[in-house]
Amino acid sequence: MIDLWQLLLVFTAIAIGWWLGRRGRMISADNNAALHHQYYRGLNFLINDKPDSALDTFIEALEVNAETLETHIAVGNLMRRKGEVERAIRIHQNLLSRPSLPRVHLHQAHLELARDFISAGLLDRAERLLQDLIKEASELKETAMHHLLEIYKDEKEWQQAIDIAEQLLPKRSLLKAAPATDKTITSALSHYCCELAELSLRKNDFHGARTQLKKALSYDRGCVRASLLFADIEFRTGHYAKAIKNLRKVREQDPVFIPETIALLRSSYERLGDSEGFYHSMLECLEIYPSATIVLSLVEEITAKKGQQAAADFLAKELKKRPSLLGLTKLVEFHIANSDGQSKENLTILQLLIEQLMQNKPRYQCDHCGFSVKRLHWLCPSCKQWGQIKAIRGAEGD
Ligand SMILES: [Zn+2]
Repeated sequence: MIDLWQLLLVFTAIAIGWWLGRRGRMISADNNAALHHQYYRGLNFLINDKPDSALDTFIEALEVNAETLETHIAVGNLMRRKGEVERAIRIHQNLLSRPSLPRVHLHQAHLELARDFISAGLLDRAERLLQDLIKEASELKETAMHHLLEIYKDEKEWQQAIDIAEQLLPKRSLLKAAPATDKTITSALSHYCCELAELSLRKNDFHGARTQLKKALSYDRGCVRASLLFADIEFRTGHYAKAIKNLRKVREQDPVFIPETIALLRSSYERLGDSEGFYHSMLECLEIYPSATIVLSLVEEITAKKGQQAAADFLAKELKKRPSLLGLTKLVEFHIANSDGQSKENLTILQLLIEQLMQNKPRYQCDHCGFSVKRLHWLCPSCKQWGQIKAIRGAEGD
């Protein structure tokens, strides 16, 4: 089957054939003969199913000029996509060694070479090329900045990522409502600040962490991660009421993340000796965002306050409204505790079956690309978008 790679080779052969015909009328007989020789050598390789040798020969035969540049770049890019990065680098470097090319074409080759280096994992070299492009090529500045941003993200150079992302952002939209593309950048900026805040927290530098988190919220008021980190700092510094206040903010920012606040909410209310406060807080959360995790935390509270029967009744009522495997396991557990003999045995089998069904099931999924994982990631490992991984809803999820 002819693939894209072979099609491009045939296209390159035709383009060179056409170009040689045209060129033949303008150059000396000797040069023309040499070029035709190269061309037929290339065709021979192609016919004998040696596409790699054919390509090298064609590229050698095809003079680099404004007319043929697109073909050179296309072949180089195809090499990169095929994973033949060394070849792509050679082709694009060959273009850069022709200073007679118009500047705009040299810039394009410059950018492609940087992309080759990124594919090859030579990030330092790509970084230097992109920094040069930002200074010299106004037409490619934004593209180069986006690539540079990806490099800083991969290298976890968060401050450098902030410096570049800020330049990609129109100044007026820093604090006001911004178009969708800017919102992607403001969201990324807030996460870069959260990354820096987490680094400060690891060194117990609460002041540094707070400064970064304030910046995160100035870029994106809806940054759940910043509120969770703020709550963590308040808890660790003994300000439990403030921790609760920050966790409550998540309800307005994005209710999908409410279940992520439960553990710290419970600990904060415990430290304040206010179990009633936690119970009411959970009832409010259930009202805003019905979820199996919230139901289960309420089941625990009701068991402690009113006993198992009341908790089982509450759980059964909630399961009728929103069936979930998580809730069902708990309900079966209650029934096992209150049964004996054959029914106890059967219920235990049912419990095992549900547990097996739930085992290895991912709990989170990326809204952007569908990638699923067992634990919450702020940066999607697959599509590299920030804040898109959320708890899976429905009977098998939350
Ligand atoms: Zn994703």
